Amino acid sequence: MILKMAKKLFIPGPVDVSPDVFREMSKPMIGHRGKEFSTLLEDCVENLKRLMFTEKNIFLCPSSSTGLMEAAVRNCVKDKCLNVGNGAFGERWHYITKANGKEADLLQLEWGEAPTPKIIDEKLSTGDYDAITLVHNETSTGVTAPIYDIAKVIKDYDVSFLVDTVSSMAGIKVEVDKLGIDVCLFGVQKAMALPAGLSICSVSETALEKAKSIGNRGYYFDFLTYLKYWDRRQTPTTGAISIMQGLRYQLDKILNKEGLENRFKRHREMGNLTRKWAKKNFDILPEEKYASDTVSCIKNTKNINCGDLKQKLAEKGYVFANGYGKLADKTFRIAHMGDRTLDELKAYLETIDEVLGI
Ligand code: PLP
Repeated sequence: MILKMAKKLFIPGPVDVSPDVFREMSKPMIGHRGKEFSTLLEDCVENLKRLMFTEKNIFLCPSSSTGLMEAAVRNCVKDKCLNVGNGAFGERWHYITKANGKEADLLQLEWGEAPTPKIIDEKLSTGDYDAITLVHNETSTGVTAPIYDIAKVIKDYDVSFLVDTVSSMAGIKVEVDKLGIDVCLFGVQKAMALPAGLSICSVSETALEKAKSIGNRGYYFDFLTYLKYWDRRQTPTTGAISIMQGLRYQLDKILNKEGLENRFKRHREMGNLTRKWAKKNFDILPEEKYASDTVSCIKNTKNINCGDLKQKLAEKGYVFANGYGKLADKTFRIAHMGDRTLDELKAYLETIDEVLGI
């Protein structure tokens, strides 16, 4: 009954969770030091490797993604970090890096701009950095960084490559090993379409080796502690057991029922549809080639009242997302990620047309 009455979430996370996933999550609780938990963890890790195109270590953490942003810099920044900032989450990573007592520079770009391999090459060529953070998909601006081109540049430097794929993983292809990513992190409440409260990362052997030489890694987010527990197929602390049960089920659906390539294609089609609609009625913030397939950031060229629109869409059963931070009134966002279908998205766009009379 509650599920039936729920509003459809068109915000860029958390997103709607399918009833069958919720059913799977309502299985009886299990202890986190028993065999059943180890099997659950192993099953999740095995399929996460397929999702992420990696053979690296995978750690599951009962925190939101911000926790793993903190973990990445605590474990992998030794001397100085370069934080690429082309939106709110890139800038957040800079704040986090410094708040953890690390030296860091912010490569400040315009919100809506994409980082280019050239600008990153220029910065890294100074030799000042041993780590770089990059947000693959800037949820605040709907920009997807050209990570394949950027990765080619980064390979020439001895730096830890730390990547936030929070709003892209499972919606846009990210081949961790091919890209040489040292830490790739994300949460499950976005394109994975699971409830919030579990974050995941892959960590390279190089990063683990480096972590040994870095002090003050703390306990909760220490990758070496995670590795020690993984050796006995456990997590250092109590896992997010119900979400992990949902994750095992959802990974099977993604990999074996829908298929990864089909999932990426569906996201691309939803991105294309939204961009077409946006360009007809408004405009999109990013340059088209960097526009994200999981979230669109639309310029409010008609100067519509986003508060009014939000209210009217709520009456029709939708949750609308306005712009993020300093772009709050200048833009609004449409999420097209997770298990969302093209038909549901079409219905949402038609409802906006109807409400705005356009
Ligand atoms: N990075 C990106 C790109 C995000 O979109 C978000 C949340 O929206 C975060 C990091 C932070 O995630 P969380 O709120 O789960 O800690």
